[in-house]
Amino acid sequence: MKFSEYPKAGKYGTFGGSYVPEILYPALKELEEAYEKYSQDRDFKQELKAYNRDYGGRPSPLYHAKRLTDTAGGGKIYLKREDLIHGGAHKFNNVMGQALLAKIMGKERLICETGAGQHGVATALAGAVLGLETEVYMGKVDVERQKPNVFRMELLGAEVNVVETGSRTLKDAINEALRDWSANVANTHYLIGSVVGPHPYPMIVRDFQKVIGNEIKSQLEEKERSLPDHLVACVGGGSNAMGTFYPFVDCEEVTLTGVEAGGTDKGNAASLTEGTEGVLHGAKSLLLQDEDGQIKETDSIAAGLDYPGVGPEHALYQETGRVQYVKVSDQEALEGFRVLSETEGIIPALEPAHAISAGLEIASKMKPRKLLVITLSGRGDKDLGTVREAMK
Ligand SMILES: *Cc1c(COP(=O)(O)O)cnc(C)c1O
Repeated sequence: MKFSEYPKAGKYGTFGGSYVPEILYPALKELEEAYEKYSQDRDFKQELKAYNRDYGGRPSPLYHAKRLTDTAGGGKIYLKREDLIHGGAHKFNNVMGQALLAKIMGKERLICETGAGQHGVATALAGAVLGLETEVYMGKVDVERQKPNVFRMELLGAEVNVVETGSRTLKDAINEALRDWSANVANTHYLIGSVVGPHPYPMIVRDFQKVIGNEIKSQLEEKERSLPDHLVACVGGGSNAMGTFYPFVDCEEVTLTGVEAGGTDKGNAASLTEGTEGVLHGAKSLLLQDEDGQIKETDSIAAGLDYPGVGPEHALYQETGRVQYVKVSDQEALEGFRVLSETEGIIPALEPAHAISAGLEIASKMKPRKLLVITLSGRGDKDLGTVREAMK
């Protein structure tokens, strides 16, 4: 079976599935059927394309980073500029797709969870532009550490529900969002932010994000008359990496590298390189858990990578070796952040700074005619405070 043919019956090999309470199962079926219908629909595709182009700024440029290439001293480096998309990251591609799908399905309300607030802000902007009521669940601890994003969501007209249960962070916010969804499925769409969760979410999010890889393919064909030799992207839940890789998974000559958060000596968020098989948030995948199956505390300087699980399709790619996954530490990511800022005048988000660090290393070992594309998943404005602290 070709890699691009997954999922089969909601599964990626042994990974994936829909491990949810029975009450949510009909909602997942409804979503799957609606997605199957509208994703083939000409009007839906046209409308999404128009939002992506005129509101989101797609296609994003594929930029030949000359000074970064010289710094690495090897393969020719291109950057896929998702940092230039509306909202400042690739998250736009998925929220716009799902919100438009929800609207066509007749839903009036979007809900989502958010940890650092980036997905909440993205969902709020899609809700605003489509006139859908938006409620965001966010743990109290996160609300306190991410005040600017809470304010952004409120400015965009979303309601932020502060979650006070459990550890009052992302996983508790997910539980509350699921509770809301099971009570309100008739008029509500639960907008998941990465290639995680029960089927059909990993497939839907991948399909809305594969615009990244499709554009890389046609832009590189135009510039170099060639496929890339190597693609690199950072992996939190895994959506920007999946969007980058998916159009190339059946091209064996293209090497794929996913970069996880190696954190510090005290902890990391490297679920693919260090995790074990388990079920989290409705899907079987690789997770950071202890022997009792309790989820471990994760640690990364990049809020968007700080998640104990990862999408099930990445677990399949890890198991089969189709993608190589590597870890990059907080320190190395900060170095990548500095190098890109100084050589190219682009301040990256800390998440893709991990991909820059790994990409420099990979490029240095490639022949000069070889082509490397690094997905720059977002811009760094949100991280300036964190970086300033870390530099002290
Ligand atoms: C949220 C985020 C990520 C991590 O999410 P994925 O689903 O792994 O792509 C990476 N980069 C940026 C800029 C983000 O905002």
